[in-house]
Amino acid sequence: MTALLEVENLSVAYGAIEAVRDISFAVGEGQIVSLIGSNGAGKTTTLRTISGLLRPLTGAIRFEGKPIESLAAHTILELGVAHCPEGRRLFGRMTVAENLQLGAYVRKDAGVAADMERVYELFPVLGERRNQKAGLFSGGEQQMLAIGRAMMSKPRLLMLDEPSMGLSPIMTQRIFDTIKELQSQGTTILLVEQNALAALALSDRGYVIDLGRTTLEGPGHDLLADERVRAAYLGDA
Ligand code: ATP
Repeated sequence: MTALLEVENLSVAYGAIEAVRDISFAVGEGQIVSLIGSNGAGKTTTLRTISGLLRPLTGAIRFEGKPIESLAAHTILELGVAHCPEGRRLFGRMTVAENLQLGAYVRKDAGVAADMERVYELFPVLGERRNQKAGLFSGGEQQMLAIGRAMMSKPRLLMLDEPSMGLSPIMTQRIFDTIKELQSQGTTILLVEQNALAALALSDRGYVIDLGRTTLEGPGHDLLADERVRAAYLGDA
């Protein structure tokens, strides 16, 4: 397996608070890899550091074998790493189409219009409502738009932070089905989730993060069956 993304001994701090402590993981080309763990474990901090929004204290981050930990966020995006942030962060007063257009701002090629149609194929509701303002949408529809916007940069690696947050079980399933679909279309996915069950069920590999450290790792299905994971994250006794 070729690793598209490698994170090695990463530590990140906010002043004196060390949020990520010596975390290592790899995301192979074409895989879905999930980071699971409770609130405050350091998952969002890890994604923001990969995106170039935070700088590591120590450690290395390599994309296609090249170090990216000191590159600017827009350069990392141009290399093919897209980040769909926690809370979606859409522009509520802009339309669906305008939000998608913004996702393509780093691109210089002529394929933007065709890719926008592809997003509408993936999420027909966005196509039907392309001229409506994003702020009027339900949580699930906003999540679809946030994923669509990230896909508009044509990423090799799509990082999704808590895509199921606040969604109904049906909408959560719809979003997870979409993640699988994006993988089958060739996108590599790094997923951060508190919904451990759903995330591990579709992941090639999972990492359990607790208080900034990796406590367990393995194939998604093995972690799903692990008693420690079940007890801590799946509500089993
Ligand atoms: P969540 O699901 O709540 O986002 P998480 O696993 O993504 O959890 P992080 O958001 O990465 O966790 O937070 C890790 C730790 O860093 C927590 O203790 C949090 O309080 C702290 N932290 C996060 N952001 C900041 C910040 N801007 N300043 C100071 N401390 C922060």
